[in-house]
Amino acid sequence: MRVAVVGGGMSGLAAAHELVAGGAEAVVLEGSDRLGGKLKLGSVGDVTLDLGAESMLARRPEALDLVHEVGLDERVVNPRTITASIWTHGALRAMPPTVMGIPADVDALAASGIAEVDPHVLPVPDDDVSVASFVTERLGRDVFDRLVEPLLGGVYAGHTDALSLRATTPQIAALGPDLLAGATTARAAANATGPVFAGLVGGVGQLPAAVAATPGIDVRLDATVRAITRTSEGWRLSVGPTTDVEHLDVDAVVVAAPAPAAARLIAEDAPDAAFALAAIEYASMAIVTYVFDEPPAFDGSGFLVPPVDHTFIKAATVSSNKWGWVADTGRTVIRASVGRAGEATLLQHDDGDIAARALADLRTAFGRLPEPLDHVVQRWGGGLPQYDVGHLDRVAVVERSIAAVPGLEVCGAAYNGVGIPAVIASGRAAARRILDAGTIGA
Ligand SMILES: Cc1cc2nc3c(=O)[nH]c(=O)nc-3n(C[C@H](O)[C@H](O)[C@H](O)COP(=O)(O)OP(=O)(O)OC[C@H]3O[C@@H](n4cnc5c(N)ncnc54)[C@H](O)[C@@H]3O)c2cc1C
Repeated sequence: MRVAVVGGGMSGLAAAHELVAGGAEAVVLEGSDRLGGKLKLGSVGDVTLDLGAESMLARRPEALDLVHEVGLDERVVNPRTITASIWTHGALRAMPPTVMGIPADVDALAASGIAEVDPHVLPVPDDDVSVASFVTERLGRDVFDRLVEPLLGGVYAGHTDALSLRATTPQIAALGPDLLAGATTARAAANATGPVFAGLVGGVGQLPAAVAATPGIDVRLDATVRAITRTSEGWRLSVGPTTDVEHLDVDAVVVAAPAPAAARLIAEDAPDAAFALAAIEYASMAIVTYVFDEPPAFDGSGFLVPPVDHTFIKAATVSSNKWGWVADTGRTVIRASVGRAGEATLLQHDDGDIAARALADLRTAFGRLPEPLDHVVQRWGGGLPQYDVGHLDRVAVVERSIAAVPGLEVCGAAYNGVGIPAVIASGRAAARRILDAGTIGA
């Protein structure tokens, strides 16, 4: 069986890996000139590191399993520190223990000076609601604005006024009617398990190439898929520039492209899924990475900023504090992120402006910073899908609609989780369904 995978991001590569492990041939068609999608290595001055995603949740197995399967085990590393701060009320304040921003230690919260809590014990509704309304009703707007919102802004680049409780923070819903008590118990249980995050020495951006090197995976770059058409024997893909379209005939297709592209490609064969996918919004952002030759006067992993504080940047990571291998370069590396859902105007500045404004924020937050040796502005247009209220219903529609079309699957960040382990799981599951259905052109 020959299967085309549309999109060479982590979900598509994971699908291809699973397909060849199951005995199929996989052709990965990537529209751009490089693999990896939101995983990307780049050089800033004399340091090579991640310019996109940089860490993997270690409490889910999928990413570390794949790392193991492609032989990168020896590079797995945990952060040296994950002690983050919140930049609010004019200072960097150590973040108290929380479960996705829900305070797990009310005294530590009071000592931090970050937010005031106004607790109410209320039942958890069966229906989906926004994270904003759920948290505000139970703990007050201040906790939502200054703890939950910045944390979720880091993961989804979203404004939680619209984000779905069920799709983005089921762990908050699971805390029960008394959120504070639930968070205290959940946090104590979580502390007993291992490290939360892992990375790779040299950057997680090495993972795409390692997966693509799996024998049996055929990668084609600059191969934008323009159309997918059902034939009597399988599928025909139209690939490449509109002036020079090539055709590829395969037995099955996994569409691992972001929702807008996926919606266009499947519109004819799975119109309900296409309609649901077209409704998913994306947030754009930029990551500005600076390299300095002096150590920072700050020893945590970085900070988050509540949107209510109206700064230019929404977060900063001191990569050389967080990752030992970055520190070993002898440089101080700080990456600032800019842009949440609905803040596209921030990104309408040119790169020089974005870098200067982000650096000005870093200087205000950290007190003092020398001139950087170098910096890189990496834009991520359409970087992260927004799981708005009702997202899981939308995904259910997509799944039903796709299930009715033999030999067609979708996977990626638009469905059941945006993190690296989640998209790997999504890719693998899509491949498994194709293999199990045995949609062989035989
Ligand atoms: C700035 C940033 C930082 C992040 N940090 C982290 C992190 O630290 N940890 C974490 O777990 N997650 C992080 N994420 C999220 C995570 O990296 C992504 O959700 C995930 O990598 C997406 O994988 P994907 O395969 O679904 O999509 P993508 O990575 O978007 O890949 C899709 C690919 O499809 C290609 N494509 C699109 N249309 C076509 C077409 N018609 N034909 C052919 N190819 C096409 C694209 O060029 C792209 O390469 C981050 C995301 C961003 C934007």
